[in-house]
Amino acid sequence: MAETKATCPYCGVGCGVIIQHDGARVIEVRGDPAHPANFGRLCTKGSTLHFTARPESRLLYPSLRKARDLPRSRVSWDDALDAAAERFASVIKESGPDAVGFYLSGQLLTEDYYVFNKLVKGLIGTNNVDTNSRLCMSSAVAAYKQTLGADAPPCAYEDFDHTDCLLIAGANPAFAHPIAFRRIEAARAARPGMKMIVVDPRRTDTAASADLHLAILPGTDIWLFNAMLHVLIAEGRVNAPWIEAHTEGFDALREHLRAITPEVAAKVCGVPAEDILTAARWWGEAAAPLSLWCMGLNQSHHGTHNGTALIALSLALGKIGQPGCGPFSLTGQPNAMGGREVGGLSNLLSAHRDLANPEHRAEVAALWGVPSVPEKPGLSAIEMFEAVRAGKIRALWIACTNPAHSMPSQALIREAMEQCEFVVVQEAWGNTETAKYADLLLPARTWAEKEGTVTNTERRITHVNPAITAPGETRADWVIARDFALRLGHRLGHASTARLFDYPSAESVFQEHVESTRGRDLDITGLSYAVLDEHGPQQWPFPEGAQTGRVRLYADGKFASANGKARFVIPAEALTAESVDEAFPLRLTTGRLRDQWHGMSRTGKAARLYSHTDEASIDLHPVDLQRAGIDDGELIRVSSRRGSVILRARSAAEIRSGHAFVAMHWGRNLLSSSGANELTLNALDPFSKQPELKHAAIRIEKV
Ligand code: SF4
Repeated sequence: MAETKATCPYCGVGCGVIIQHDGARVIEVRGDPAHPANFGRLCTKGSTLHFTARPESRLLYPSLRKARDLPRSRVSWDDALDAAAERFASVIKESGPDAVGFYLSGQLLTEDYYVFNKLVKGLIGTNNVDTNSRLCMSSAVAAYKQTLGADAPPCAYEDFDHTDCLLIAGANPAFAHPIAFRRIEAARAARPGMKMIVVDPRRTDTAASADLHLAILPGTDIWLFNAMLHVLIAEGRVNAPWIEAHTEGFDALREHLRAITPEVAAKVCGVPAEDILTAARWWGEAAAPLSLWCMGLNQSHHGTHNGTALIALSLALGKIGQPGCGPFSLTGQPNAMGGREVGGLSNLLSAHRDLANPEHRAEVAALWGVPSVPEKPGLSAIEMFEAVRAGKIRALWIACTNPAHSMPSQALIREAMEQCEFVVVQEAWGNTETAKYADLLLPARTWAEKEGTVTNTERRITHVNPAITAPGETRADWVIARDFALRLGHRLGHASTARLFDYPSAESVFQEHVESTRGRDLDITGLSYAVLDEHGPQQWPFPEGAQTGRVRLYADGKFASANGKARFVIPAEALTAESVDEAFPLRLTTGRLRDQWHGMSRTGKAARLYSHTDEASIDLHPVDLQRAGIDDGELIRVSSRRGSVILRARSAAEIRSGHAFVAMHWGRNLLSSSGANELTLNALDPFSKQPELKHAAIRIEKV
């Protein structure tokens, strides 16, 4: 039996795995003891990966339908890519490059992202390329950029071993990032004095183990963080000399916070003022305070300011860049970071360059050898599907993601794909909700079958290797993008296409990406596949000549902004986008279960992973169930202003009365009704364009 090193394809912890295989089949998976993200540990999802690497429901060859009312039939790769190039070229010639859109995924490898991004921005000449990272991390990106100057998480997992006060907000790592949480548990066991504060409307497993659980009302995070900072200022705990030397905007924020006392915030947040005071004092007294956040803050119509308000708590103490200190965003997907590094969002460019910056556009055009990169911002995920529905985008390419499950306001998404003139879906699995909308369905390789790199939550890049021979006619995602680009460029009359996409291997794509980072904050010119193989996964930056990557950023107090200073942002104290009322009196929150991941296209194949939770349900407080005359276990109708689903009611004392919880995993193809996103809404954060997937007003009824 052979062994090949890779990473787990699920969450952003990015655990190293060793795949045991016979070249054709994955036999077993174990944690890689040498990988710094997990040192050999795997959670239930990672340790059952071999059960998911099965041929059932895999897409094995391309299929195309000639008309919407006809079924798809098998075609050759040449015919498939020619058909796609023909349709995209015709739309571009008739309606311009902005009439096409590409919707990608944080599960793609960095090389896949890179080629797609160059195809869309460099060859086609539109910025209409976005990814499901928009639903995941874009608020954290915007928050980092507004405060620290760059999209760069400044911390590392080893900070868990040094912090003496960990503030976890809007995250349930016990379920969603289990191996990171194991490290937190080990740190607490080793240092019993370490405090852990958890901010979450629900009493999750993470919250249940906290020293202080602040069960705030959904959407009130900014009030809480502002009140904590009010206390730090009032009690003289802020680091005034450091603030003066390394930041700007503090005086204005201090004025803004005068009225936001713990008593004021307590009324808004629904938690005792004394608890806010305690949290602020623990934070202020800590030698090494560390914050950790995820979707609970990001997936909000004020997600960016949720992040900036939390980051301000670290800046106010000058506690950043030192062991155990700083603001640390947990990444949801395995390679959302890698995608951002190559500029894989509609408002970004390669290597953390900004689309709005003319010098950055010129640099990228020069790197790629194209006349220019378009200036007009592309459409973000939700905007893209709205444009499809409005007929402004006529051809849509979806790769490695399942928007007919994962996006909010599902009725809108379905309507968009139904009326789009030409939909290409590039997927490993044929049974996703989105696959049925495909006019052209392309079989992609997946975990254990392809080579490339991924970047995890702590900026650590791992080289992943193919273990087994890919099944059927599947191709690597970057190969599909390259081969489509070559055909499209020919039809659009771009003589330089062959030179632009002259990639004989994944490594050649990585080398071009590496060169694009030269001199940037994420400079990785010292890395190559050979260095990663010889020295193991490395954190960026890793410039030419470096011996190791940088564990944490901003240790010298110099930030990535133009003037080198961090910035305090005055946040808008908004609440949830949708209020409860008589018609929709319950507050729905959404999240993850311990043993499932995203839309279950992979975890749903491992029978063992159903032993924790085996069906979709809605958690409700016993009092609310009694009031509605609903029994524990009864099937009920759950409705929001956008749609309804049938779910099994589950009595859950860990949730507040008036609140409800539905896991995000089950969708239309796994449940007779539909998933949580039938209920959610597409209210967007004005900076990050991230939708408020975490909250909706609902009602429940007997069926
Ligand atoms: Fe995979 Fe995340 Fe579990 Fe690690 S913690 S094994 S990356 S799902």
